[in-house]
Amino acid sequence: MQGQRVLNEQVLNIIGGGMAGSEAAWQAANMGVRVVIHEMRPKVGTFAHRTGNLAEMVCSNSFRSDDDERNAVGLLHWEMGAADGIIMQTARAHRLPAGGALAVDRDPFAEAVTAKLMAHPLISVSYEEITELPSSGNWIVATGPLTSGPLAESIRAANGAEALAFFDAIAPIVYAESVDMSVAWMQSRYDKGETEEEQTAYMNCPMTKEQYEAFIDALLAAEKTEFHEGETAGYFDGCLPIEVMAERGRETLRFGPMKPVGLTNPHCEKKPYAVVQLRRDNKLGTLYNIVGFQTKMKYGAQTSVFKMIPGLQEASFARLGGIHRNTFINSPTLLDDQMRLRLRPNIRFAGQITGVEGYVESAAMGLLAGRMAAAEMLGRTVEAPPSETAMGALITHITGGAEAKTFQPMNVNFGLFPPIDAKGGRRGRKDRYKAYTDRAKTAFQAWLS
Ligand SMILES: Cc1cc2nc3c(=O)[nH]c(=O)nc-3n(C[C@H](O)[C@H](O)[C@H](O)COP(=O)(O)OP(=O)(O)OC[C@H]3O[C@@H](n4cnc5c(N)ncnc54)[C@H](O)[C@@H]3O)c2cc1C
Repeated sequence: MQGQRVLNEQVLNIIGGGMAGSEAAWQAANMGVRVVIHEMRPKVGTFAHRTGNLAEMVCSNSFRSDDDERNAVGLLHWEMGAADGIIMQTARAHRLPAGGALAVDRDPFAEAVTAKLMAHPLISVSYEEITELPSSGNWIVATGPLTSGPLAESIRAANGAEALAFFDAIAPIVYAESVDMSVAWMQSRYDKGETEEEQTAYMNCPMTKEQYEAFIDALLAAEKTEFHEGETAGYFDGCLPIEVMAERGRETLRFGPMKPVGLTNPHCEKKPYAVVQLRRDNKLGTLYNIVGFQTKMKYGAQTSVFKMIPGLQEASFARLGGIHRNTFINSPTLLDDQMRLRLRPNIRFAGQITGVEGYVESAAMGLLAGRMAAAEMLGRTVEAPPSETAMGALITHITGGAEAKTFQPMNVNFGLFPPIDAKGGRRGRKDRYKAYTDRAKTAFQAWLS
């Protein structure tokens, strides 16, 4: 760490002093660059934040698993610690007992991050809302899932209507290796597509009439979550939750996302009554999303209902479904591998607005954007960490690994990492995860040095 010496007279402006903006500021300032954080709170609030503190945790007080040997988010903790991240350092100092999770005393945590940033000689905070995407200077936009309306509109105007979403409508994502292929099969509807990538674009899970009826009953009975106060319910056009579709009529799903047409089950001559399709979710082919299955069912209910789908009885989920108020950009089309906006390379994006999800992932993307921006201002380049690392897997996913058309926010998970075993490898899950984290730590240390 170069500490307090200013190495460049230019200023790095960061919009938003949340998880990502705070981490970006800390990293850039420690590299010798002057930073101004522009934070709209407490002057302008959001429905979820309560204070004027930087790095406020808006909901849970947990940074999730702290197991850096067998858990992808625990590995991300480790990498952020190794990179002198302010969020991890401060979280550890304000830790509460929570078993294997890293939970913190939220207000003292946010107050401590705020105090450390304010005390840094190269960082200042300007309490103001930025309402337009700036046209000159060095900027990082880290305004998060609740980016204020005027700035969101400006981002949309500069990049096109498809570039920015205001809600995530997330279909559950399963690990491909956990699908039972003695029941499911790969096929695109009407056999469209000739390349191998196209032929592995969809997996199909067949249902008999009895299985379909039982599935609809379970959907209707499942516990659902409510919207947060202040979230609008204007999501309904085009992305109805499956349980709402089922409420509209027991056959609606069979004529919608579960229609059985254009598909031939190689395991059984009888035509399926309904088919659940899974679509490839990343270039590696390790993750598949359940097509059209966005849902407001509670997480516990989702796993039991989705495991009723033939072929998914042993499925492992990389993420469960949901619908939330969430502003995020289509990073695979908008950002380059330095997190710069292709159309305006003086502006980087960081945090949840880039399409990662969660406090830790957002802070991690702030860490990278801060280092990359500062390096560029100092006439150097910081390359992204290799995709074998947790940070590298995340940035690779958002800037090129994910399918742009179906891009939805994502937590860190081992499905984003290049596979460690050839298909059919015999290592057990725990050993495999340990091998992922060992490989990642070596690669991350090499990247840091
Ligand atoms: C209701 C809700 C609950 C959540 N619960 C969890 C959870 O339990 N666990 C979890 O891991 N993640 C949770 N998340 C996701 C969480 O928000 C992110 O993981 C994380 O806070 C995102 O970090 P960030 O820095 O990208 O955004 P934020 O931490 O939200 O920071 C963005 C900052 O930008 C400021 N800002 C916005 N617009 C402007 C503007 N125009 N000008 C200036 N400042 C601006 C905001 O005031 C805010 O301080 C939740 C999100 C929401 C909306």
